[in-house]
Amino acid sequence: MEQLLQMQRFFNSGTTRPYAFRKAQLIKFRDTILKYEKQIHDALYTDLKKSPEECWVTETGFVLAELNNTIKHLKTWMQPGLVSTNLLNAPSKSFILHEPLGVVLIISPWNYPFQLLLTPLIGAMAAGNCIVLKSSEFAPATSVVMKQMIEECFNKEYVLFVEGDGATVIPAMMNNFTFDHIFYTGSTAVGKIIYKMAAEKLVPVTLELGGKNPCIVEEDANIKVAARRIAMTKFSNAGQMCVAPDYLLVHESKKAALVEALKKIILQFFSDKPEESYNYGKIINEKQFNRLVNYLQQGTIVYGGRFDKEKLFIEPTIIENVNTGMGIMQEEIFGPILPIISFSSKEEALQLIGQHKNPLAFYVFTSSHTKENFWLNNVAFGGGCINNASWHLTNHHLPFGGRGFSGSGQYHGKASFDTFSHKKSIMKTPTWFDPSIKYPPFKGKLKLFKWVIR
Ligand code: NAD
Repeated sequence: MEQLLQMQRFFNSGTTRPYAFRKAQLIKFRDTILKYEKQIHDALYTDLKKSPEECWVTETGFVLAELNNTIKHLKTWMQPGLVSTNLLNAPSKSFILHEPLGVVLIISPWNYPFQLLLTPLIGAMAAGNCIVLKSSEFAPATSVVMKQMIEECFNKEYVLFVEGDGATVIPAMMNNFTFDHIFYTGSTAVGKIIYKMAAEKLVPVTLELGGKNPCIVEEDANIKVAARRIAMTKFSNAGQMCVAPDYLLVHESKKAALVEALKKIILQFFSDKPEESYNYGKIINEKQFNRLVNYLQQGTIVYGGRFDKEKLFIEPTIIENVNTGMGIMQEEIFGPILPIISFSSKEEALQLIGQHKNPLAFYVFTSSHTKENFWLNNVAFGGGCINNASWHLTNHHLPFGGRGFSGSGQYHGKASFDTFSHKKSIMKTPTWFDPSIKYPPFKGKLKLFKWVIR
């Protein structure tokens, strides 16, 4: 608690506000990540069996690209935004100041333990805040390296790294201290707990949650390309990805072709011994492993299905004959198991999608503009891709986030800066012009008011 009060005092001192401070800290952070690159990659291998290449694309390189973009644009983002002034207030000037929020808390999950903790950190630093980082206890090797790296890079009044069991550590902090913002990434269930605790003190929150992401494959889709892109995303990090396609909805005329194409490409990507593949990860822990193995008893396996508890390995698996009464179609899968369901009409597919409100991501594979527009206009989701899966989140020009059940608020690039800033709206009115029309007595001025205010 004393540490949090010290952070508050440090924030109040104004040290984090100037552009020069923010830029210098971001550059120092970039240098430190580069220094720790090998240790980070080794830790991610220990926790999730990620190759250095996968680490670069989805973790370290991802964060560095975000840093470079932020350093490049920070000065422009910090400029007061000039806006027009309406006739009623002429000749005033109106502008928006971007204010830091104060001391903010960032909470992350275990699946991309580096990226999901440190990408929001960049936005929070850029906006001039002091930051408490809470890593996930389920990716312990990565957490140890991140802690060492953060403590080497920043003083503890500016960025504080906190570890431990979230269910104890987070309520303890939130009960004793009022954060100025909470940025939470993780499950919907815990998101609700955080949201309730924050509401008690009216602390604003950003929630980046999960859900069941539908992936539509239309009859006019390029099946070979669709299979390649779906398999790449679904089985990356052994399916433990918030934006992975959770299940496929394929037009009935293309189901057989898609299953064949998927089988072929999975074999090509990960060989017939994926447990030994350089390109294939492992399940994070026994609890998640057991949960996933349970899904293998549901529906009919058409590819894969092997598992090994010792190695926390589950083979890339395709399942058919699933229905909405089964757990696999009720909960977020978050693993390398892909149910395939065929549809004959859009209405039928929409009804199934509607069982899980507001998916975080949505994908459609089609060569028709009309079909593309139909799906974009008829499903309420966070963000997504046409003829691709998950790559939208790697473009920092696109704000990333869910809606409703999959979260609220957005980040990445400028959206991160905005999330961690308060937009302070200011009107500056000159004193040389002060018409008495604005002041009492008002009698007889209605016609004029109606002309000015409309
Ligand atoms: P989780 O909710 O179990 O844990 C996330 C964080 O919350 C951890 O740091 C944990 O310590 C903390 N926590 C756990 N219980 C808590 C409690 N009772 N009170 C306060 N804090 C608590 O999530 P997870 O299992 O680590 O991650 C998987 C989930 O995260 C999936 O649902 C996935 O879709 C989602 N996710 C979403 C995104 C996104 O960007 N929207 C990204 C990655 C993962």
